[in-house]
Amino acid sequence: MRLSRYFLPVLRDVPKEAEIVSHRLMLRAGMIRQQASGLYSWLPLGYKVLMKVQRIIEEEQNRSGAIELLMPTIQSADLWRESGRYEAYGKEMLRIEDRHEREFLYGPTNEEMITDIFRAYVKSYKDLPLNLYHIQWKFRDEVRPRFGTMRSREFLMKDAYSFDLDKDRAVEAYERMFVAYLRTYARMGLTAIPMRADTGPIGGDLSHEFIILADTGESAVFCHRDLLDKPIPSKDLDFRGNLKPIIEDWTSLYAATEEMVDEAAFEAAVPEDKRVSARGIEVGHIFYFGTKYSEPMKASVTGPDGKEVTVHMGSYGIGLTRVVPAIIEASHDEAGIIWPVSVAPFEVELINLKAGDADTDAACDKLYGELAAAGLDVLFDDRDQPAGAKFATADLIGVPYQLILGPRGLKSGEAEIKHRKSGERETLPLAQAVERLK
Ligand code: ATP
Ligand code: MG
Ligand code: MG
Ligand code: MG
Repeated sequence: MRLSRYFLPVLRDVPKEAEIVSHRLMLRAGMIRQQASGLYSWLPLGYKVLMKVQRIIEEEQNRSGAIELLMPTIQSADLWRESGRYEAYGKEMLRIEDRHEREFLYGPTNEEMITDIFRAYVKSYKDLPLNLYHIQWKFRDEVRPRFGTMRSREFLMKDAYSFDLDKDRAVEAYERMFVAYLRTYARMGLTAIPMRADTGPIGGDLSHEFIILADTGESAVFCHRDLLDKPIPSKDLDFRGNLKPIIEDWTSLYAATEEMVDEAAFEAAVPEDKRVSARGIEVGHIFYFGTKYSEPMKASVTGPDGKEVTVHMGSYGIGLTRVVPAIIEASHDEAGIIWPVSVAPFEVELINLKAGDADTDAACDKLYGELAAAGLDVLFDDRDQPAGAKFATADLIGVPYQLILGPRGLKSGEAEIKHRKSGERETLPLAQAVERLK
């Protein structure tokens, strides 16, 4: 992508409504634009990151055995009356009436709808286990939308729903998601700690929130320091095998959010030098809630003995539009964002230090073509602007590698690579630049 032809509305000034660093950087880097309170457009650069996050989530969900589908954003009120949540959900729900005065709502979550799909088609225990997920926009009329897309009203969520014959098997489905979540966040460069959590209005009795530590986090969290550098299960893990030892390993160390913490238990379980008491961001949440929806909505299958069995369910959310700012909270410096390679909007930013100089233009064009041919997604800063401004933009938008070429380098046949994260610079023969970045 040539920057001269791209749409990257970088802001010089920091909008004063932005209280936290990720919100400031997302606005400055031209990633998002607020359209109304809690409603955001994702501009091209932001959208690319969001889609990278989406891809990782899909890969890990699929690997764990979950199956992707897509449900609508608008749901009928009657469906929610079946579970009793239409009245119970309260003011966070956006209620809508159509021209026939029929009642609808903009979905804040999809337990009811997925249960309706399940009961329409699945009749036998032989079709279990089943885990269906989608990635779809949700709406919650938050009392206080803030911090940009960290807490917005419309937000993109991955929500998965598991169906099993009994509690033991439902817990195994929960464990598969637990492991898939560990892998998902790690691949995005995040250290997310599973913490025992309150089940809240969704209900149920087994629940973990996945928490990123950050000073700007909205909840107080308490955990054992060793959870911060625990190795992540490998991608070769067999999800059909017994995952209990992994879950045991992760949950035997103390970790709880403020709603669940018991100070005395925390102090008893964790030696003083290992105690982490910090702020955290909830980037995901998994629940097992038994028959809370399947019972009232009559989602059952015939069991092996021919008797009807009400299925046991769980639900598993990740806020994609919250994950993006969470990554920035965890990875930035004074100059801007530092994208982990896995979610970076571009892999390389090629910087022409002297656009307009025929030789440099030709050499950069050639490099650009070679990088593209090598399969790299490149942002080419070909604009006629001072080098300092280009460096500032490159550091702000945080592409992992900058490949820098100007007339002087060209004369000596050398280019420079700057690693955004370490700040390290290396000079290398032009001819080796593409090979080095591949
Ligand atoms: P919170 O405690 O932050 O209000 P929640 O517990 O209400 O979140 P869940 O119902 O558990 O949220 O939804 C699953 C995930 O969706 C959350 O873990 C979070 O990542 C994301 N999420 C929830 N509300 C928002 C929001 N307003 N904006 C962005 N992401 C959100
Ligand atoms: Mg909430
Ligand atoms: Mg919560
Ligand atoms: Mg939650």
